[in-house]
Amino acid sequence: MSATERAIASAEAHSAHNYHPLPVVVASADGSWMTDVEGRRYLDMLAGYSALNFGHGNRRLIDAAKAQLERVTLTSRAFFHDRFAEFCTQLAEMCGMEMVLPMNTGAEAVETAVKTARKWGYKVKGVPPGQAKIVVAANNFHGRTTTIISFSTDPEARADFGPYTPGFEIVPYGDLTALEHAVSANTVAVMLEPIQGEAGVLVPPPGYLAGVRELTRERNVLFIADEIQSGLGRTGRTFACEHEGVVPDMYILGKALGGGVVPVSAVVSSDEVLGVYRPGEHGSTFGGNPLACAVALEVIAMLRSGEFQQRATELGEHLHHELGLLVGGGAVEAVRGRGLWAGVDIAPSHGTGREISEKLMDRGVLVKDTHGSTIRIAPPLVISKEDLDWGLDQLRGVLAGE
Ligand SMILES: *Cc1c(COP(=O)(O)O)cnc(C)c1O
Repeated sequence: MSATERAIASAEAHSAHNYHPLPVVVASADGSWMTDVEGRRYLDMLAGYSALNFGHGNRRLIDAAKAQLERVTLTSRAFFHDRFAEFCTQLAEMCGMEMVLPMNTGAEAVETAVKTARKWGYKVKGVPPGQAKIVVAANNFHGRTTTIISFSTDPEARADFGPYTPGFEIVPYGDLTALEHAVSANTVAVMLEPIQGEAGVLVPPPGYLAGVRELTRERNVLFIADEIQSGLGRTGRTFACEHEGVVPDMYILGKALGGGVVPVSAVVSSDEVLGVYRPGEHGSTFGGNPLACAVALEVIAMLRSGEFQQRATELGEHLHHELGLLVGGGAVEAVRGRGLWAGVDIAPSHGTGREISEKLMDRGVLVKDTHGSTIRIAPPLVISKEDLDWGLDQLRGVLAGE
């Protein structure tokens, strides 16, 4: 048995099978490249679902983490620590908002957004007790908790996990008329991904986000943008909402906020909205810890320069130009996305997304399939143009059946 086979066999024997990873066992990584236990190198074109926007082992992030590791890593929120105010202030400023509630994983931040919207509904909007409703979109992905999967439309994510949390209404993504009908007096929020990542990098029709903004403002409903995957540079802007000049009432952030080093998530909003909390009503042992704050502060500083957004824009144009050339050639049915982020629909005659991903792996490129026939391309924003072109060459080779 090879080192790879041994590692996979023992992982399969001793871990729950809630994932179906590609058969590669990574031992180290640097920038856009990963090296497996047998010394083979792979170009990372997934970037931890955008948690690794700044690449593996980013020097600035590793140095920030190391420096903080030597000082203090955890205080709990029972005490203040000296990176907390800095983190909240700078994150709020980057978002153009006022208050931050830090958590750890994306799902926790989504849960926090749900709780916050409900509480705002009762305390500020005046919704009758227990009646708050949140409108979400079909094909959403917001995480894996029992409440979040309650409003998923993906049978795999939902089946056998009920009973489900009530209080959600699902409308088709991109359909403003359906949204208008779904919003009622007891609606406290509309929660959406500005681009649906897991669904296959679905970009809503032009004017949709602006329409959601207008409708929610008119009806006194919070517009919550889940930018956990779309935010922090991926699409060429700090937030994907910016492409339509839209500012929501609340951002949900995660993934790249922790720089691929530690889990860091947050809800960012106004005084009116996050001001509803009193001590004891919500919390997290690890949320806003010193190590998380130190890494996230470095992420915020890096985004402030605009260089990553710029790279995502320039390399993204190149990526979409090259992928666009594949459409209509028989192997690729459609390409969607924005910035350095693409969903590529493979023609069934050329194999499933999984099969294409495995063939790419054999050529040294790592991507992830989604929903059967789609592969997702989202390399670290630090990828060089040469590496990106090499990765695209491998994709062309696989699709040509070479
Ligand atoms: C990944 C993701 C989440 C969940 O984040 P976790 O850290 O995996 O809990 C929520 N929303 C979106 C849009 C995501 O991409």
